[in-house]
Amino acid sequence: MNKFKELANLIFPDITETIDDLEKRYPERNLEEGAMVTRFAPSPTGFLHTGSLFAATISHKLANQSGGVFYIRLEDTDQKREIAGSGKSLVDQLIKFGVTPSEGYFGDDEQRGAYAPYVQSERANIYKVIIKHMIENDMVYPCFCSAESLTKMREEQSARKENFGYYGKYAKCSTLTPEEGMERIKNGEPYVLRFRSKGHYENKIVVTDAIRGVIEIAQNDQHIVVLKSDGLPTYHFAHLVDDHFMRTTHVTRGEEWLPSLPVHIELFEAMNWKKPTYAHLPVIMKLDNGNRRKLSKRKDMEAAVSYFLELGYPKDGFMEYLYTIANSNFEAWRDENPKASRDEFKMSFDKMSLDGALFDLAKIQNLCKEKLGHMSTKEITEASSTWAKEYDEELYALINRDPKYYSEILSIEREKENPRKDYEKFSDIKPLILFFFDDHYKQMVDSALVYPEHLNKEDIKLVLETYKESFPEGLSEEDWFSVMKEVAVKCGFAATPKEFKKNKEAFKGHVGDVAAVLRLVVTLRAQSPNLYFVMNILGKERTIARIDYAISKLA
Ligand code: GLU
Repeated sequence: MNKFKELANLIFPDITETIDDLEKRYPERNLEEGAMVTRFAPSPTGFLHTGSLFAATISHKLANQSGGVFYIRLEDTDQKREIAGSGKSLVDQLIKFGVTPSEGYFGDDEQRGAYAPYVQSERANIYKVIIKHMIENDMVYPCFCSAESLTKMREEQSARKENFGYYGKYAKCSTLTPEEGMERIKNGEPYVLRFRSKGHYENKIVVTDAIRGVIEIAQNDQHIVVLKSDGLPTYHFAHLVDDHFMRTTHVTRGEEWLPSLPVHIELFEAMNWKKPTYAHLPVIMKLDNGNRRKLSKRKDMEAAVSYFLELGYPKDGFMEYLYTIANSNFEAWRDENPKASRDEFKMSFDKMSLDGALFDLAKIQNLCKEKLGHMSTKEITEASSTWAKEYDEELYALINRDPKYYSEILSIEREKENPRKDYEKFSDIKPLILFFFDDHYKQMVDSALVYPEHLNKEDIKLVLETYKESFPEGLSEEDWFSVMKEVAVKCGFAATPKEFKKNKEAFKGHVGDVAAVLRLVVTLRAQSPNLYFVMNILGKERTIARIDYAISKLA
């Protein structure tokens, strides 16, 4: 038998499958021309980064709009760095934003799709089939270098100002014969498996990136480890095998992977497999004191998607924002199609920026305010209840005391041409509506009744008593406001700010002051949802009780 085959059999005596078997088990996908197969391939090492959601959103959209497939693969080959449960929570968070894969890893006990398993640690035998083939063909060899000898090698490279790594003359074990390899394995020496690179860093390769166009980079010359001593592959090798056998057409990933591209290209070429199209997405940047810098896990709360989920930013507003930074023509499209679903927008690589997408929290906040303002009462009631169920027990309990009442509160000035935009996120709702609940009102009232300084006690009392006397009921908003003006005039205030300005001496203030006093008494806030509707929802009895209490406090 050929010595390389012998070596391969010695290392993998139990691997009997062949690459052909795998080609049959994971055939080309039967998709229309132009359909993209994309993936999101997180490592379960922590939280979902906003940049990852950005990348996944783009991959998902590209697959969907082309009639392709978007799937999730869990890259858990670095088991030392794994954080239990984080794989599942990454997927759950993506799904909360509507980035739902059509196949792949959904949770620790759940995988769906014909290209399974989608968890790398469950694919060990698949990798071994390819590695065995590569050993047989002298593309992979065992390396016995110890950690100490590798450290020594680095020191030598540093002293000589040479490139770091296992390459060229430094790739000591690349010169071992298969016989020598077999002997040392039989002697029980520990080893890893390395890829025999044929590249040289002084040579260049030319690759076309779907976003960056033609790029020239140095060839790979590193004899990278393909299989670690724990029997699992390294990221580079798993990428080769998985994206080939899962039939990925487009690898969309962060630009931090660009330096690894030469390794990936060499691996695909060594196997003579069709390379996927690579698209290295811009990283998300942030303006910090006028300087652009990467959104950072350590410094920025908004780097974690959970920040937006916990505060209850509506997914629609957030997604709208991600589209805005993904494609430079999205905002113009939105202006022309204000009501259209984002599904109708065509995302493209050539409209992606190259110099980093700038993340602007204020813009997200505005978009979310718009989205919440334009939701129907039913939509916002449901969406905020779903949010409260997970993130705010107290609000959830309030909603469930009387869901109809809650819905009525949220209906104030909604479903109209220019809706009021009181909320930017679901967590804004509770503080703004707490006064609607009598028990909470009572708790807050004594400390909250702080009247504007320019009004005196007697006048405040007079305003409250006069309003109470003529308590308007069943009026339109317009007629109600006329009553407010009448109350103002009766109490010595001007009916309009304009009148007041003309002759300040003649008045105690104007109708705005009257409204401010009533607003404070009824809602305990200087700003509240429209007072007319607030009083209608509270009803006469409860409103008068609040006014009476305030009067008693002024005595
Ligand atoms: N597992 C890699 C990561 O955590 C995926 C990179 C890729 O998409 O190829 O970012």
